[in-house]
Amino acid sequence: MIHHRTPEFESTLRSVSAKLKQAFDTTQPVFMQASTGSGGMESAIVNTLSPGDEILCVVSGKFGERWADIAKAYGIKTHILEVPWGEAVDPQKVAAFLDANTQIKAVLTQACETSTATVHPIRQLAEIVKTRSQTLLLVDAITAACAMPLEMDKWGLDVVVGGSQKAFQLPTGLSFIALSQKAWQFNKNAKCPKYYWDLQPEQKALAKGETHFSSVVPLVRALDVALDFFIGEEKLKTLRRIERLAKTTREIGECYGLKVYSKSPSPSVTALLTPAGVDSQKLRDHIEREYNMTLMGGQEQLKGKILRIGHIGYITNEDMLAFAEILYLALRDFKVDSIDKTHLERAKKIVTTNLTQKD
Ligand SMILES: *Cc1c(COP(=O)(O)O)cnc(C)c1O
Repeated sequence: MIHHRTPEFESTLRSVSAKLKQAFDTTQPVFMQASTGSGGMESAIVNTLSPGDEILCVVSGKFGERWADIAKAYGIKTHILEVPWGEAVDPQKVAAFLDANTQIKAVLTQACETSTATVHPIRQLAEIVKTRSQTLLLVDAITAACAMPLEMDKWGLDVVVGGSQKAFQLPTGLSFIALSQKAWQFNKNAKCPKYYWDLQPEQKALAKGETHFSSVVPLVRALDVALDFFIGEEKLKTLRRIERLAKTTREIGECYGLKVYSKSPSPSVTALLTPAGVDSQKLRDHIEREYNMTLMGGQEQLKGKILRIGHIGYITNEDMLAFAEILYLALRDFKVDSIDKTHLERAKKIVTTNLTQKD
């Protein structure tokens, strides 16, 4: 361990800050806050909005609900654009709402709604919002930043939030947040109460190569290494790899008769519908207990219905071969007799074909 107010740590922090800008495709500073991803979401709201402001929140799953819950906690008047779970938001509906309600200060959305493994058309949303000088686009990119193309400056995203334990391959404990110039203008008048989340002192500290509060030294040092996967040429390779892991997972699912749940599937996480009669929660518990592999189930209305498989983090081809085999064995354990050894062979072939491809 080293102390955070030392020249040694300052040089790490400067290195990480430079890499984070590349990773987020922005020239703006990217701040690290000591929190989980949800803290980053709260920071996004309190640093740009005021109690009594009106916002539009895209709610298409658990994390959309979280945006709305945080905003309401600060007395922000929250309009909800309800999107059926598993579907992407229709940008035209957002445009129509903003046309009819010019007082809206911000549109809040996920880039990827992790609970349904669905991606939203962020670039199109940005096209709509960026022409309106009185409205910001706040993006929860916690399973999108460094997991799929998301060009903050070029697309015109106003606030982008990330989290260390998702694409960044680290343990939980850091949230990332960057504000566009337009969002910094809003920041000047943002009246939401804040102390820990206030980005103004952070901005001053970062300019001096420090964080305002104590730094999460171990995670920042780890990030300095992890970020090398997400800058320059390496970033393209990493994103292509994630895309291929997702494609491979969808194809393995199809091979075993498991349909992809989302109508707009994400590269970062895939939701597969389990066959009728197979409770996905029981299946995932069985897989964890018997085969030592952790997959996620569904939440709320999707509980028991889907398996969620992540594609971010450090996943090897051997992991994917193991996944193909374990899913096969577990489905057989659950008496899914429509699949046999030939399906398993085909699934393994999918893995080797898709993942050993040269760029
Ligand atoms: C994981 C996640 C969050 C919440 O992150 P925590 O680190 O659990 O606070 C928020 N939004 C999305 C889209 C996520 O995937």
